[in-house]
Formats: sequence, structure tokens, C-alpha cells
Amino acid sequence: MSFSHLGLSEKVLAAVAATGYKTPTPIQDQAIPHVLARRDVLGIAQTGTGKTAAFVLPMLTMLETGRARARMPRTLILEPTRELAAQVEESFIKYGVNHNKLNVALIIGGVSFDDQDAKLMRGVDVLIATPGRLLDHNERGRLLLSGVELLVIDEADRMLDMGFIPDIERICKLVPFTRQTLFFTATMPPEIRRITEQFLSNPVRVEVSKPATTVATTAQFLARSGRDGAEKRDTLRRLIRSAEGMKNGIIFCNRKRDVATLHRSLLRHGFSVQALHGDMDQSARTAALEQFRKNEVTLLVASDVAARGLDIPDVSHIYNFDVPIHADDYVHRIGRTGRAGRSGTAITIVAGSNDAKAVAAIEKLIGQTIPFMDTIPGTPAEPQHEPRHEPRHEPRHEPRQTARPPQRGRHEHQRRPQQPERRPPSQQQQAAPVARIEEARSRRVPQPVHKPMDDGDASHLPAFLLRPVPLKA
Ligand code: AMP
Repeated sequence: MSFSHLGLSEKVLAAVAATGYKTPTPIQDQAIPHVLARRDVLGIAQTGTGKTAAFVLPMLTMLETGRARARMPRTLILEPTRELAAQVEESFIKYGVNHNKLNVALIIGGVSFDDQDAKLMRGVDVLIATPGRLLDHNERGRLLLSGVELLVIDEADRMLDMGFIPDIERICKLVPFTRQTLFFTATMPPEIRRITEQFLSNPVRVEVSKPATTVATTAQFLARSGRDGAEKRDTLRRLIRSAEGMKNGIIFCNRKRDVATLHRSLLRHGFSVQALHGDMDQSARTAALEQFRKNEVTLLVASDVAARGLDIPDVSHIYNFDVPIHADDYVHRIGRTGRAGRSGTAITIVAGSNDAKAVAAIEKLIGQTIPFMDTIPGTPAEPQHEPRHEPRHEPRHEPRQTARPPQRGRHEHQRRPQQPERRPPSQQQQAAPVARIEEARSRRVPQPVHKPMDDGDASHLPAFLLRPVPLKA
């Protein structure tokens, strides 16, 4: 099946052909004809399914007729983060190569109001915005939403997590009642269901895959660690150093503060790493992402909000430094790897009984058990010295890692036998990562137990992790 039967314009079909896409993805196939027929659409789809093109392509077709008026955008796309908004803008540039007269404007926080205002003044066909900045412009009387013919609410469940639902409700009331609405979400929690019932009119429901499925090509593992931050960082370093086939990796933390701490620590330990979190200014976020996309750095430490939905092709490794608090986030995090049939590895560090409970919730959601790695290669550091200056709020010496296995919750204790695992290895446990990590371990020259691993000597690091990284003050 090709794109030609969907009802898209010649200009759009030519742009799609130029990108090399031959076949519409299921969400494109199912949603585009309804969008062109001016129906409301409720799309249940994650990033990576081609959902952006599912609304961008028909919008381009529909916008070929008509003209924009000053301060009155014709269409509005709401995105939860600045990065996602920028990605959607890139899609308009890519698929809109033949639409010379189309005006697309990005209204996001962290950049100048005046430039955005000047764009609004010129008249905008497509306004892509984050909710807060959009409402700021509206409250200043610089933007009228009464001309919006089509509203797209993207990543709605993420908007919910970020507390944007009241803003979304306000915006929905500012755009005309008669507009067409396209609503995309990966999951349908009750609050999202309520919003769809309130603001969508007889929508066509398009669901392309179960929200909570993980990619079959991603090998998933758990790694035990002590609870202390320094112990977790040591575990992470050992996991990264022993990873086989690593091209690049994303390390997820639950809190912005921890993203910054971990980033500094990894830099001090000689890793090629950038950080991405919501407190960084826009230019720093964009620069970090670009460096990672271009493979100028190997690792990216990120928070969920910053990394949600980012289209980073072919990530080989995901590390969950913290077990995500919401089980859904696990699916989103590991969805960064194993894309387009490529194999990937996702390792979650489990430290303590709360983590074990969160893992149990994840396993319930994804309907599969994630095996523990039998051993984490590398000698636990004893004691760990951070190579240069330790941030003030952390201990100067990382505490000794005890020989005792990390504390485990009752729940976990009941479900999981003590190491070594006695049950026959599952298919996943037989899968490459565990075996490869074990092989790597036996190949490694044993390190003297009392030698601090990280003081100055970086010879044990793989070369790709030693690329120089420009340090920002
Ligand atoms: P999205 O879910 O919108 O983030 O898209 C995920 C990735 O799929 C992006 O890199 C798109 O460029 C790509 N993509 C979108 N549509 C197609 C298609 N029909 N065929 C192949 N790749 C596509």
C-alpha cells in the first residue's frame, strides 16, 4: 500500500517521495483519510509510530487553500516540551518543501517574546506551541485563537504528567467550538478520557499498538545496586564500561537535580556525556541534543520530561539510573532503543525495596518478567574517590560497597530467588547481553581491589568514551 490512496495533495506526495518513505505507517494509513474528511481523531499511539506525519501531511494538504491573517493562526499544535515542538516544526520543513508560502511559527518558552510576536504579526498558518507561552501571548493580547480551524493536542498523557491539563482546558475554550480536533496520547488514564469526552466531537478512534508494549528487539535487564547515590553511580559506570556493542546510550534519572549531579560525575570519570533536563535554557538543551544526535557525545543523561518523544534514531543502550515512578515511563524510556528492528539493551538499576515495588508494577504493565543480571562486571570501587571536586552536597568519598547483597524488599524477596538464579534461564537470559557481559568480564584484567578505579587512570575505558567533550563553565 502506498501513500497515493490516502487523499494527500500532489505537493505533499512529492515531498513524501523525496524523503524515501514508501509505505504509510499504520497510524498514517488509518488517520490521514479521516483528518482530510475533517473528522475529529483520537489517536492512541506512541512516538516512533509515525504519528507526527499522520497529522502534518493532511494539514499541509488542507492548508493549500486559504490565507492566514495577522495574529490569528489558522491551525494550532500543542506540544508538552520545547524539543517536541521544535521536532514538529522540522517535520513541517521536511514535508512542506513544496509549500513556499506556508508560515510556520514556534511559540515556546526560553526564547525572545519579540521575535515570536513579529512572526504572529505576519500571519501564521501553523502555530506550534507549548501551553504556557501560548497563554502568555494570548493574555498580552498579541494572539487571537478565534481563527483556529484545526487544533492538535499531541502527547496528551505527558501534558497530564506535567500539570498542563488546566492550560489545555483553557486553550480548548479559546479556540472556536467548530474547530476540528486531533488528539494524540500514548495511554488513556481517566483524566485524559475525561478531556477527550469534553473536547472531541464524535471522534474516530485510531489505536495502532497497545500502549504498554515494549519493543521485542530490546533485551531488558535489572542490575542490583546499593541505595546510596555514589554506589548507584559506581554500578552505572561498571555497567557502561562492560557494555558490548555500545554506540550510544541514554541514562534516565527521575529528578532534574540528579541529572545534573550524574552528568558532572560522569564527566569527572572521563565519559563522553551531555545532559538534558528542563532547567537548562533552550539553547543548551538544543546544543546537547544536537551533540548526541551527531554522535559527538556517546551518552546523554536525561529526565523523562526532557527526553519524552525525542526522535533519536538508533540508540543502542538505555540505562535507568532510577526506576521510573510511573510504569508507563519505563515503556517510553526503553522505546528509545530497539527501533526499526535494531537490537538494543535496556538496563534498570534496582536499589532497595521501593525500587523493587516499582519494578513489579512495570512487569505487570508490560506483562513480562525482567531478569536480574547475575553479576555486574567490574570490581566495586573501594572506597570511591571522585577524580576531581565532588559537588558540595555529596560525600567526598564514595562509601565502601558492602559484600552483602543490596537490601531487597519483601515483595521482591518472595518473587525472586537469591543469586545465582536457579530457574532455567529464560529466552531473554540466554540472549546476548548477559552472555556478552560475562564474556567481557572474563576478558578484563582483574583490578586490584584497593586501587581506586577512577583516579586519573582512564586506560580501562573504551576509546569511544574518551572523546574530548567541550566543557561549559
Ligand atoms: P514519529 O512517531 O512521528 O516521532 O516518527 C518516528 C520516525 O518515523 C521519524 O523519524 C519519522 O521520520 C519516521 N517516519 C514517519 N513516517 C514514516 C514512514 N511512512 N515510513 C518510514 N519512516 C517514517
